[in-house]
Amino acid sequence: MNAFDPGKFEEEAQERWTHAFESNPSKLEKCYLTVAYPYPSGAMHVGHGRTYIVPDVIARFWRMRGKQVLYPMAFHVTGAPVIGISKRIAKNDPQTIHLYRDLYKVPQNVLEEFTDPLTIVRHFASEYQRVMTACGISIDWRRKFTTVDPTYSKFIEWQWKHLFEAGHVIKGAHPVRYCTVDDNPVGDHDLLEGDNAEVIKFTLVMFQHGDAFIPTATLRPETIYGVTNLWVNPNVTYVRALVDGSAWIISQEAAEKLALQDHTVEVQEEIAGQDLIDKSVSHPLCGKVPILPADFVDPDMASGLVMSVPAHAPFDYIALRDLQRAGKYTQIKPVPLIKVEGYGEIPAQDAVDKAGITHQMDSRMDALTQEIYSAEFSKGKLFDRYGGKPVRVARDDIAALMIGKFASEIMYEFDTRPVVCRCGNRVKVKILHDQWFLKYSDPAWKKQVSDHLGDMALVPPEVRLEFDRTVDWLKDWACTRRVGLGTRFPWDTTQLIEPLSDSTIYMAYYTIAHIIRDIDPRLLTPEVFDYIFLGKESIELPEKKKLEAMRKEFLYWYPYNFRFSAKDLISNHLTFQLFHHVTIFPKDKLPKGMVVFGMGLLNGAKMSSSKGNVFLLEDAVSDFGADTVRMFLMGSAEPWQDFDWRNELVISTRKQIERLFNTVLESKDADGEPHDIDRWLISRLQSHIERTTEALTNFQTRQALQEAYFGIESDLKWYRRRLAENSDGSRELHTLCSVWIRLLAPFIPFTGEHLWKELAGEGLVSFAPWPVANKKLINTRIELAEELISRTVEDIESIRKLIQMTPKSITISLAPVWKHEIFLLIAKSNDRNTVIKEIMKDDAMRKRGREATDAAKQCTTLIHRLPPHVVEPLVREQINEKAVFEAAKIFLEKEFGVPVHITDAESSEHAKAATALPFKPAIIIE
Ligand SMILES: [Zn+2]
Repeated sequence: MNAFDPGKFEEEAQERWTHAFESNPSKLEKCYLTVAYPYPSGAMHVGHGRTYIVPDVIARFWRMRGKQVLYPMAFHVTGAPVIGISKRIAKNDPQTIHLYRDLYKVPQNVLEEFTDPLTIVRHFASEYQRVMTACGISIDWRRKFTTVDPTYSKFIEWQWKHLFEAGHVIKGAHPVRYCTVDDNPVGDHDLLEGDNAEVIKFTLVMFQHGDAFIPTATLRPETIYGVTNLWVNPNVTYVRALVDGSAWIISQEAAEKLALQDHTVEVQEEIAGQDLIDKSVSHPLCGKVPILPADFVDPDMASGLVMSVPAHAPFDYIALRDLQRAGKYTQIKPVPLIKVEGYGEIPAQDAVDKAGITHQMDSRMDALTQEIYSAEFSKGKLFDRYGGKPVRVARDDIAALMIGKFASEIMYEFDTRPVVCRCGNRVKVKILHDQWFLKYSDPAWKKQVSDHLGDMALVPPEVRLEFDRTVDWLKDWACTRRVGLGTRFPWDTTQLIEPLSDSTIYMAYYTIAHIIRDIDPRLLTPEVFDYIFLGKESIELPEKKKLEAMRKEFLYWYPYNFRFSAKDLISNHLTFQLFHHVTIFPKDKLPKGMVVFGMGLLNGAKMSSSKGNVFLLEDAVSDFGADTVRMFLMGSAEPWQDFDWRNELVISTRKQIERLFNTVLESKDADGEPHDIDRWLISRLQSHIERTTEALTNFQTRQALQEAYFGIESDLKWYRRRLAENSDGSRELHTLCSVWIRLLAPFIPFTGEHLWKELAGEGLVSFAPWPVANKKLINTRIELAEELISRTVEDIESIRKLIQMTPKSITISLAPVWKHEIFLLIAKSNDRNTVIKEIMKDDAMRKRGREATDAAKQCTTLIHRLPPHVVEPLVREQINEKAVFEAAKIFLEKEFGVPVHITDAESSEHAKAATALPFKPAIIIE
């Protein structure tokens, strides 16, 4: 007995696939697909599964369509995260141990060796390969490499030489996100929280307080003229510190931050916030103002003290108003300084009153602040007594004046907080000197990327906007780190190239990875790579034969056709790689397309390894079978949509595959003579082939499965129902099974291989020819006839349910010819509203009077209800309803177990017969 046994199918196929997907240049047209390689620091979960299975389905599809397909994989082991992990394991950190031992199921003896970071990545790289293979991902593993291989480092050095020569690598002082515990700049991937935070440049306004300065940070230095007071948090302990030799009063946090931003800071003593309240400060541009208490002042924001401009800042306005309502500080009045169209004399008051905001905690306060900020910046003008300049000009002028004359300094701070490193430490802004940057801010470089983006295929198309925005917004990128694994920076070997900067053109390296590994890395000079990738000849190149082979591989495979990745990589990796490609490669070797994925949810919540909300891919495969996992992931959403993994839904996918398996085994040996219903089945099959092909060409895995699985399954159900008694179907079923298995093979390749063998298909189904629709087999007349019968059967069923009686007979009463004429006129008409008037101009119709107008209205409603794939052919192809029902009489009598009569409505006595319409006969149950 041939039972449904996914485990067995997996074993069988794995054996046959061992070297099947190793791909070499050939005479065929190539299709090169790549996906962002994984950072193997933990076990794969089902979210990762989708990332690699989508490209696999597409790879398998194009392979069957006769292309030479390359789908390679490598491992990104550059960077610091794994070093942090190994340190935490060495320290026996309970959370890390729990994650690796209990969630990732790392055996104790292996875990003990995780104190070496390279062991971690090696372990998980081999786990990734094993699990990917178990999932049936058709990778050419000969081309595998890791980013710490010495030959890869030589490749990266070559890449950077070109970047440097193009002027894209610069050295300078820049503010960066920095973790003081790791003593390293922090990339997006190193963050637990705050990956959206941007570094903002504030001006510190220096208020004199006795012999010390109290600095307050602002983005709006021009509002100094409207300062009425400072805000200090009475519950915070501030410090007096010598900053570059002069005394400042700031928060403890600010003292630490300033020390990271090119200041010498020496804390002298603590000062209670309470002790500053009601003291006064002064500034040459606003005179003497008092210090007022405010709980909302955050010591972790910039200097930890703020200046108050109630006329133009809603927060300040409300805070002051609250104090004054309690009877305090009533002598202070807002001091306006900016005129702005659309607002009254005191814009903050105006906006707060209009919005009906009554307290500081109102959630609309941030939006309101932003609104006034934008309005004043774009349209505001300072009062004449403050110089009369537009705000956008005055802002920079006054900042320059303060820095030049009034001791102001710049301070960098995040726009949102907290920003937390993976190690748990608060990330701060540090000014790095002698830091190397990739100059992504360069407008000429940006333009090259924008121009090329315009030539690329982007899926789904709406991500184009996000790419454009990223290119536009991208700033210089700190591209080296002091700690981590990776390639040494050629111009300062104490530094390493950071992970997002050594993973931008490795898609080209795949084309040569299986050959270059046999060459001594010391021979791999820049000239060698210049030859392989750019065709530049030079004297005395080593290993010429291997170099020729690599050049040939590169020329054949490159550029890649599509790169697949999650959408959160648009703002870095996916865009960075374009910057690097346009610099290194000639135009005909630039990337052709990208497919961007949605995110994965587990039972409705975002998947996250660090929060433990993941389902491991390997567990999924062993619980449900690889094909079930694949089909579920491909069928539950299109690749760019978010998907939600729910075990109960996955179980039903497994049942679907089992049904397919049983159906194919039952049907493949049928040998009856074909009838009309077989022609119907094969006719429908052609459209399923066409639509599945179109969907996969457009990366719509869900749509493709709807057609290839559910469409065909529901046809087969109807087909079986329509077969004569004692018939197992015709030999056309064999044809259908052969097509069906091939259409589904990219999704469920294991079951596919097994069934293909059962069908005596030639070779592997993975390389079998993709079905092609044969238009000659499409029979509209038969499809319409079956549509008519199935709709009538549905109508009879629903009437039977409604009348709740045991029927003795069923009469199907067919519409007269004149109703068919009306139906046709309406269906053909472009304007279905005026067509009734046209119809009534006809003498014969006018004579029918009310009967004709009613029929026209009913036909209009019916045509609206029928799907276009029914109405459209009905216009072209008249069907003889009488003949159709006569031929189906035996079937209908078998279905309903009573005699079925077919009559013309006009010769019927029954009142209901008058309701008969084309394609919707009247049904009389007695
Ligand atoms: Zn850290």
